[in-house]
Amino acid sequence: MTVLFTHPDCLAHDTGPGHPERPDRLRAVLAAFEDEAFRDLQRETAPLAEESHFLLAHTVRHVDGVHQRLPASGLAAIDPDTIVIVSSGSWDAARRAAGAVVAAIDLVMAGRAANAFCATRPPGHHAERTGAMGFCLFNNVAIGALHARQMHEVERVAVVDFDVHHGNGTQDIFESDPGLFFASTHQLGAYPGTGAAAEHGVHGNIVNIPLPAGTGSAGWRAAMSGSLLPALRAFAPGLILISAGFDAHEADPLASMRLTAEDFGWGTEAICEVAAEVCGGRVVSTLEGGYDLDALAASAAAHVRALMNAS
Ligand SMILES: [Zn+2]
Repeated sequence: MTVLFTHPDCLAHDTGPGHPERPDRLRAVLAAFEDEAFRDLQRETAPLAEESHFLLAHTVRHVDGVHQRLPASGLAAIDPDTIVIVSSGSWDAARRAAGAVVAAIDLVMAGRAANAFCATRPPGHHAERTGAMGFCLFNNVAIGALHARQMHEVERVAVVDFDVHHGNGTQDIFESDPGLFFASTHQLGAYPGTGAAAEHGVHGNIVNIPLPAGTGSAGWRAAMSGSLLPALRAFAPGLILISAGFDAHEADPLASMRLTAEDFGWGTEAICEVAAEVCGGRVVSTLEGGYDLDALAASAAAHVRALMNAS
């Protein structure tokens, strides 16, 4: 069984007019799951994460800083680049986004679901231990990984990140911990500029595969099959998390890779095959980027269809 976690609170994170990371993204994804093909997708309400969950991956100073800067009305920027915009609804949205991953992990670790997808926002993979960055307040996937280790005694947790941007935040939180593994494909030179192939982590637990602008299906699939998936298999995690950003799609306005929805389906299937070999198929995926609404909806649908096929 595949479970979908979401919550209407995630639509109340208002980033203002013209911001690419907008509520319509989530509406587009959820609309795709109305299709008959998703009749068997189990729907669950994302709970609110506790502050203790945020503190698994972040400093008190960062968590308090976000809380204190939330406006009673209107919008506020909370990062130096002023691209992390918050509104009064952002706190609960962030709690749902992290809470979804935590609850999905609890369900999958209990054997009550094979895998899960968290359709939430704000995204998380740019948020570092000490600060918000790149549309991200808190690092949902890192919070989930640390929760799995603490509450479910999973010794090794892996994150696969195929968002077109490097998950600098996840790398920051994982790089000195030998029980955490992070592997990313991303567009070379794109925001935030980190993720060189030479960045291996303190314990060789980081795998970065930057790909040139214009890389399409063949190049990305070769990178996955040739580098990322063998490294993932070798790490032998007890749980695999996916930072599922769909902005490497050819229609995406924020980047210049040329993947299709089918590629995301293929990649998901391949990750699930490794999961079946090493960790009983346990996979929890969470939405990161993806800014063309049609491409995002089609890609998320292909991703979840692959999760359902593997469950
Ligand atoms: Zn992205």
